[in-house]
Amino acid sequence: MASSGVRHGLTGQVQNMMLKFNSDGDVEQDFKGKTLVKGETDGSSFPNGGLRGTHCAGGYLAVDTSSPILCRGDTIFIPSAFVSYYGAALDEKTPLLRSNSALDKNGSRLFGLLGGDASSGVQANIGLEQEIFLIPREEYYRRPDLQLTGRTIMGKNAPRGQEMCDHYMAPLSSATAALACMQEIQDECWRMGIPLKTRHREVAPNQFEFAPLYGSNTTQIDQNVFVMQIIEEVAPKHGLAALLQEKPFNDVNGSGKHNNWSIATRSGINFLAPDEVMEATGNAEAFPVIMAAIVAAVDENGDLMRAAIASPGNDFRLGACEAPPAIVSTYLGDDMTNYLEAFVNGESAEYKPGKKTLDLGTREVLPFEVPAEDRNRTSPFPYGGARFEFRAVGSAQNVSLVNTVLNTIAAEKFAEFADRIEAGEKPADVAREALKKHWKVIFNGDNYCEESQQMLTDSGVWRIDSGVEAIATLSSDKNVALFEKMNVFTGDELSARQDVLHDHYTGTVEMEALTMIDMINQHVIPSVKESGVGPLDELTAAASTLKAAVAEIHAADTSIDKARLARVLRLETMIDIRETCDAAEEVVPAENWTLATYKELLFLDSHTVAEPEFFGE
Ligand code: ADP
Ligand code: MG
Repeated sequence: MASSGVRHGLTGQVQNMMLKFNSDGDVEQDFKGKTLVKGETDGSSFPNGGLRGTHCAGGYLAVDTSSPILCRGDTIFIPSAFVSYYGAALDEKTPLLRSNSALDKNGSRLFGLLGGDASSGVQANIGLEQEIFLIPREEYYRRPDLQLTGRTIMGKNAPRGQEMCDHYMAPLSSATAALACMQEIQDECWRMGIPLKTRHREVAPNQFEFAPLYGSNTTQIDQNVFVMQIIEEVAPKHGLAALLQEKPFNDVNGSGKHNNWSIATRSGINFLAPDEVMEATGNAEAFPVIMAAIVAAVDENGDLMRAAIASPGNDFRLGACEAPPAIVSTYLGDDMTNYLEAFVNGESAEYKPGKKTLDLGTREVLPFEVPAEDRNRTSPFPYGGARFEFRAVGSAQNVSLVNTVLNTIAAEKFAEFADRIEAGEKPADVAREALKKHWKVIFNGDNYCEESQQMLTDSGVWRIDSGVEAIATLSSDKNVALFEKMNVFTGDELSARQDVLHDHYTGTVEMEALTMIDMINQHVIPSVKESGVGPLDELTAAASTLKAAVAEIHAADTSIDKARLARVLRLETMIDIRETCDAAEEVVPAENWTLATYKELLFLDSHTVAEPEFFGE
């Protein structure tokens, strides 16, 4: 549960040498298998939410055999779980592994009851699309907010933004350092066995994306954590700074990490691919039963999905017409929805995804087939043929909790269905009842449309606008019961995690507020004085307001009270004060403005040159 920079849930590492001196004083290799399997460490400064006192602070590392050991430089990295002396999870990985067991057990049970063979076991597979910004490093050094908090807490919009979407999928030209940087990031990753497959420009200026080949969730998450580190390490070599935070800039798109998620037997049968399920089970009802379980799981537990994406940076991103709103519905597409509707009404035919032919009417481009199903980029959780894509996830997140939640809610429904089928109910009846009850969570329309948002809210689909309140649902009665039943978290672990997440939020906001005070006092006010224009009195008052708000947070008692105050400070007070700062920037002459501007930060294409030597390599 440790953090690095703006990121919560980075790896914690202790690096040990593998040498010792023998009695003759000579150097000898010293590496035993048991060191690899288990380690004892104290690590007592990691956040633990009260799970360890300093007087009972033992912590243990045990190797996670589901994720490959990585080699980099002079170091072998051993993916491990980290727990307290009493076995409480102090990390992101232990709950994820427990949720994998729950999914394995209950997914196998249900698949068996539906006629399939899941004796190889069942696992979740994920693929993580990673969005980032790359900005000129020298300008980064002229922004204390980017350096300390990962986002600009003030800054007037540049005259040019993403009006024309001209950055999106534009050629990765070698005219700037970005391409060479991305090539080196991929190269570093491949050397470690991390297959980054896709690279492209994203829609905001200076925004880029990588996507890997997908695989088991522990492997993917360990690799993604390294990918983020490598991105940060390689960027400076190219005169760049990488920004991983969800919303580094106002009024241009923020960054996400789409979490593509599917469930499959270890022998490779994908539960979300209708044809594979049909072939493996010979049972036309198997696929709709699986879909019904997932639809029900999402409808009942949208609060947990929302909690899992409640990162500080996502405050500014969700619902801002660049990421889905904080209303957790799922898009299945018309074809699948019509099929499930017919299934609910008693039909039991196999699902055959429709296809249609596109004919461009040209000789050169011949007619070709496409799925009948369109895509919906406004949904937080669209089905995409053989996977769900959790699109609301934040770019800086360690997605362990996200996947712990997805696995646990699916496992619980699989368990419930399996119990009822074993007790004599027909699978199709169980599925029909669940679909009827949870139909409201299926929404194929535009999630950005306000009337639709109101309609979904009125129908009772989970909507939690505040990330702080979403985090607080981790310890609700429903969720404690769910996680305890699936053996993923104890109630104590959930309360601890909730406190850690609230403290991380508050800590982030506190750093942002203190940075804002410094920037006002050390940059904005001197610039205004120097040039004799701008809202001087308001700026002075703003610095005092911020100080008072931080003091009020310190004086609050509990983690959640502090986080609630921090949220108001950040989303109301600081946004108002930002307007005052931006008004100053608007009138102060360029030569008197000491902070890097949005124009200087956001346009590599007009501000930097590539280092030609890289391209020979
Ligand atoms: P798109 O733009 O269609 O979302 P991308 O190539 O940007 O496609 O990213 C798709 C991501 O989803 C990749 O990381 C890919 O490996 C992953 N993915 C594809 N199929 C599955 C699947 N069945 N289960 C999990 N992840 C998948
Ligand atoms: Mg995608």
